Amino acid sequence: MEDLSNEEINYRSSHLQFIPKFMLSKKDYLPQKLWKSIVRLLYKNPNHPVTISDIFSKPLPINVGAEINNVCNAKCSFCGYDKQVNDITADPRKKTKLNRNVFSHTLQLYNDAGGGNFFLSPILGEISSDPKWLDLIKEARLYPNISGVSCFSNAILFDRFGSENILKSGLTNLAISTSLGSSEQYKRLYGVDKYDKVLNNILDILETNVKLGNPVSIHLMLRQDKPYDPFLNSSLYKKLVKLIGKNKISILDDEWDDYNGLISENNLPKGHKLLINETSKEIPCYALFRKLVVLMDGTIQGCACRVEPDLWTDNILNHKDLSSAWKNSKLEKIRNDWSEKKLIPNSCKTCTHYIPATNLISNSTPKYIYKKIKSKLKNIYT
Ligand code: SF4
Ligand code: SF4
Repeated sequence: MEDLSNEEINYRSSHLQFIPKFMLSKKDYLPQKLWKSIVRLLYKNPNHPVTISDIFSKPLPINVGAEINNVCNAKCSFCGYDKQVNDITADPRKKTKLNRNVFSHTLQLYNDAGGGNFFLSPILGEISSDPKWLDLIKEARLYPNISGVSCFSNAILFDRFGSENILKSGLTNLAISTSLGSSEQYKRLYGVDKYDKVLNNILDILETNVKLGNPVSIHLMLRQDKPYDPFLNSSLYKKLVKLIGKNKISILDDEWDDYNGLISENNLPKGHKLLINETSKEIPCYALFRKLVVLMDGTIQGCACRVEPDLWTDNILNHKDLSSAWKNSKLEKIRNDWSEKKLIPNSCKTCTHYIPATNLISNSTPKYIYKKIKSKLKNIYT
């Protein structure tokens, strides 16, 4: 189950954003230097990435995440979990458990490097299938620099843990993947007959969150048949909007991975289309420069989108600091081979999640900055 933070959604929505040539140059001439100073001043961040070389030379990841398990309690029609055609599978590993030393070591390195928000999620699996998931969140929050924990869940098992326990665990961001409005649709898409239970769990956690003063930012990520109008006009939708607001409810729209051909359009919600594979992948994928992804056995994987042996690099336990793990020689080779020799890992050649790394500097373009300044001035003078 891929995690999509708000930040991530922004990178995706700016997919086609134009990046001026001078920001793509690896040289650091006067125009680059000047523009960097302006942008960094504006963001009040001396390390804000502005040019492509800033992305390549960044000593630390934007964020860090650990895989917790690879077991799921749903059988979603649109997901590669547990599907196999000939020798193609979405996860070639056995069902396995998290190595707690790996987990604690990753947290320690992240904390020592300054910390931030920590992503705790399976790549293909359900977090609450691990009865200890709340203990893992609690452990993460013991580190003073781990300022938050984000999780992704299908909410099927929430009643087993209790909404209050989940919300008071130290969790700060929760994305719930589900399908609402019809038990037939839910069963067809999630592969299990649990609609009433899931709906109760979701309403309970949203209502409890409001009662507790919203300690957790909850986002509903819906998978719905088209057209959406019957659902958007329903009393259930209106109730959800009252509880969390419109901006916390999103419907995945035509952005479906095919998991290397394991998923076809028949497996998607009605009326949806698969993502189209980019033809040009000249620039390395943004995922290689964004998040440090640690698998259950400590393997550092180049991206969080799929389980891809092609992108398995060194083990986090071999590193004493986060920067050396992030810049490990195998991962650097993947990045540099792609950038300089146009050698693209096989899994990335066919991956429909590909987004150019330049998206990571899309909020530093003159056009973006101009808009930002304009809206700031508007706020001051109106
Ligand atoms: S909940 Fe569905 S989408 Fe998520 S991992 Fe399980 S089967 Fe896949
Ligand atoms: S192309 Fe796909 S598999 Fe490769 S790094 Fe990007 S998201 Fe990951």
